[in-house]
Amino acid sequence: MAEAVVSASVSTPSVPVPAALPVRTVLPWAVFVGLLALIALYFVGAEQGATSVFAGTDVHEWVHDGRHLLGFPCH
Ligand SMILES: [Zn+2]
Repeated sequence: MAEAVVSASVSTPSVPVPAALPVRTVLPWAVFVGLLALIALYFVGAEQGATSVFAGTDVHEWVHDGRHLLGFPCH
């Protein structure tokens, strides 16, 4: 008759250590993404009328639904 042998030693569960995230590595990407977000926010929110960078209403029409979605005044 075979019996299972249970080990008496109790192993402590390993605690996961979070990976180091150096600020010097992340900061340039955070600035880059923030800049892209500001540019997108400008084109959605203020690219029309006197503050328009591009002539015409093409950019305004492309982001028109986003403008309404974010609550910017439009028409
Ligand atoms: Zn509108």
